[in-house]
Amino acid sequence: MSKVYNFSAGPSMLPEAVMKEVQKEFLDFNGIGAGVIEISHRSKDYLAIAEKAAADLRDLMNIPDNYKVLFMHGGGRGVFANLPMNLGTAEGSADYIVTGAWSGYAAEEAVKYTHVNSMRGDFVNADGKVELKLKDLPLKKDAAYVHMCMNETIHGIEIFDAPETGDVPLVADISSCILSRRMDVSRYGMLYGGAQKNIGPSGITIVIVREDLIGHAQSITPAIWDYKVTADHDSMLNTPNTFAWYFAGKVFAWLKSIGGVEAMEAMNKEKSELLYGFIDSSDFYSNNVAVSARSRMNIPFFLKDSSLDQQFIAEAKANNLISLKGHRVLGGMRASLYNAMPLEGVKALVSFMEKFEKAHK
Ligand SMILES: *Cc1c(COP(=O)(O)O)cnc(C)c1O
Repeated sequence: MSKVYNFSAGPSMLPEAVMKEVQKEFLDFNGIGAGVIEISHRSKDYLAIAEKAAADLRDLMNIPDNYKVLFMHGGGRGVFANLPMNLGTAEGSADYIVTGAWSGYAAEEAVKYTHVNSMRGDFVNADGKVELKLKDLPLKKDAAYVHMCMNETIHGIEIFDAPETGDVPLVADISSCILSRRMDVSRYGMLYGGAQKNIGPSGITIVIVREDLIGHAQSITPAIWDYKVTADHDSMLNTPNTFAWYFAGKVFAWLKSIGGVEAMEAMNKEKSELLYGFIDSSDFYSNNVAVSARSRMNIPFFLKDSSLDQQFIAEAKANNLISLKGHRVLGGMRASLYNAMPLEGVKALVSFMEKFEKAHK
């Protein structure tokens, strides 16, 4: 079997070493004669897995003691709803900075549970490139929180400099950039993300929330989505996705073994700079995001002649480079370079793009 490089935006490529380890112990975990997905989430064996995963995540992200780490249900979209339920009120308001599709969806969902003050945090500059404008936003002093999306997975826009929000807690969706670079957790009231980009299989959601912000959820909040109830039950009020939690723990251990988030950040810089550098050097391909706002995780790019799109995708696939088709919102191509994508994969992509350009120029 030939190995492919998978540029899918999510669910996406996971570290091969972890995939193999999970496969090896799938039928018999730790000599107990049963697989991890066959044992109780309250068993001693499983609790050890769950606790180690949470501790390793704390360690990797340098999460201060006054923050809870929750493993929840519902994905990123679930948080779009349970965030205003937990941190907002029906009478009060929350600020939403919109920089692309995902932050827009978050604002749309929140409207059902609180008053949303929505504002654009991006604009198109004179060169036609998307830039961020996060200073002097019309933030409200009495907002329950300010929401932003740190990495817009579809538009390829990443916020490296979070806006100053004073006493109002800043909440960031980090679904597609979690563990890809260092983040100062203490700057945020809450960080959250679905697991299926940098962490593991879909079906588990990480919520990192400052303790003082929880405990006053709106009365409509389902118990399994109440952050305080979840924290009080160590994320096991009901049965969590035991497989995804276990897998996430393996990925955390793998990340620690290769040098943690700092080492990963350096690799992600190198990988993304290689691809952006090539795109910028070519007039056959283009990317429409200003350098300061370019995502290291998701790189949308366009062929000058879009009638070649189908052929590009087909030939890429024949060269073992899969899932490069862009999101339907933008069209074109998108290469997602999550943590598990090795530098060799990006080199293979660039070399294919070079050849394709030569053949069609
Ligand atoms: C993928 C993604 C989501 C949606 O996650 P689900 O777990 O599918 O609900 C939300 N926000 C961002 C930034 C994403 O990339």
